[in-house]
Order: sequence, then structure tokens, then C-alpha cells
Amino acid sequence: MALHFDTPARLAHAWILTSPSQEDTQRASREIAAAAVCQRGVDVPCGQCRSCRKAFAGTHPDISVIRRLPDRNGNLRRDIIIDQVREMILDAPVLPIEADRKVYIIEEAERMNPNAQNAALKLLEEPPACAVFVLCTSNPDLLLETVRSRCSLLSLGGEEDAPDANAAKAADEYLQIVGSGSHEKLFQWIARNEGSMDEARTFVDAALYRVADVTAGRIFPDLLTPQQGMHLYRLLSQCAVYLRANVNARHIYSLLAAESFYESGKHHD
Ligand SMILES: [Zn+2]
Repeated sequence: MALHFDTPARLAHAWILTSPSQEDTQRASREIAAAAVCQRGVDVPCGQCRSCRKAFAGTHPDISVIRRLPDRNGNLRRDIIIDQVREMILDAPVLPIEADRKVYIIEEAERMNPNAQNAALKLLEEPPACAVFVLCTSNPDLLLETVRSRCSLLSLGGEEDAPDANAAKAADEYLQIVGSGSHEKLFQWIARNEGSMDEARTFVDAALYRVADVTAGRIFPDLLTPQQGMHLYRLLSQCAVYLRANVNARHIYSLLAAESFYESGKHHD
């Protein structure tokens, strides 16, 4: 999957990229970074301009990568330490050198311990206008809920996992109903769509894709709040886990009926 954006201004200021493959999150983080600094200005990244070339070569002065550092013995530390985050906090308000934006990519973001995440949270809550933050992780559940809720979640799946068109349509209907807040419409939707285990699996996979698209602002802008998006993502992830464990499809649809609507206060840690 190659990421493209209409204009750099359309980029969210904070991202969580998630994939089991670190290579995938690394590649996508470079694409977002290139999009942020691309000189072409529309349909970014162009991949051709000087900024894009530097971004992909890892030599752009406005793109910083934060990752675990080696200790005295040359072994990687267990954590991304708070001093690294503090450095980012001091650097972020400083104007970029070459581009209109500066980008901070945090690899293995779940390696930030809670202190480091809390420090980073202040930056995510009031980000400098020119800064874009990209948190890469294999497991967003290891990030603090407060951090997750500030970021657009982009889940990177393999092309071969792309959902079929019918499932995507059912997923879009489901998301729009959840966005509308109507329990009645949700029950009607379930009555129409309730199916076998395989159908439930296909639907849940498709819905996870579409929720990621919604939270990244690529479809249905303003349909869901970040909290609603994150709630649905977690609910559907839970359904996917249950389905892998062969939990009855009927139970999955009951769970969707009971838990699809985000209720503030109920799901906070
Ligand atoms: Zn470019």
C-alpha cells in the first residue's frame, strides 16, 4: 500500500501506524513524512522532488526518527527514555529548516514507558502548527488510551487481506448507523446482516479496515469522534479475537448490538 494525500495540509498532526510488520510501519511512516515535506503541494508525496528523495533516503533535516538507543555495552535499551521525548518537546516548536513542516517518527512507540508517553501526550494535546507526529507500533493497545485518543489510527494490512465489496458496503452501513446513534437502525441492520461465522469474519475484517479509514479522515469525515473510532476499533478487534477462537457468530452480533455505541465514562481505564 502506498499512501497518498491530496495536500500536506490534509495530513493529521498525529498518527498511530500499526502493523505486525515493522517494515510496513517504517515504510508507511516514511511515506507520511515525505507527504508532509513534499515540495509539489498536491497529491503528495510525489516521490520525485528533492524533499521526497531526502525523506526516503532518511536525510531530510526536518524529519527526525526517535528509536531505542544503545546502552553502554552496545545493546539496545529496553525503553525509549523520557530524555528522548524531552528533546523532541524542546525541538518541536522550532521552525523547520527546509520544509513547511517537520516530522517526528517514533519507532516501536510502545517502548515509550508511561512517563515518556505522558510527556509526549502534552505535545500531542497542543501540537505546534508545523509538526507532524507518527507513532509506529505493532500493538496500539500498549499505548496509553490518552495518547491513542489524540492520534489518527492507520492499520496497515497486506493487499491480499483486502475485504470484498459486499462486506465493505455492510461495514459502511454499520459505521454510518453507529455515527447516527440510532439503536433501532442498528437492530434492523443486524437483523438484515446476521450470518454465519465466515460472514461475521469477513464483516469484522472489512469494518476494521473502514474504521481505520474513518479515523484517518479518508472516508466519512466527522462521522465519528476519535473516542468513538477508537471504541469501535477495540470492539471489532475483540470480535476478531473471538472469531479466531470460534466463538459463535450469534454472540458476535449480540456484542455488536450491545456495545457499538461509545458511552463516555464507561470504557475509560
Ligand atoms: Zn515530493
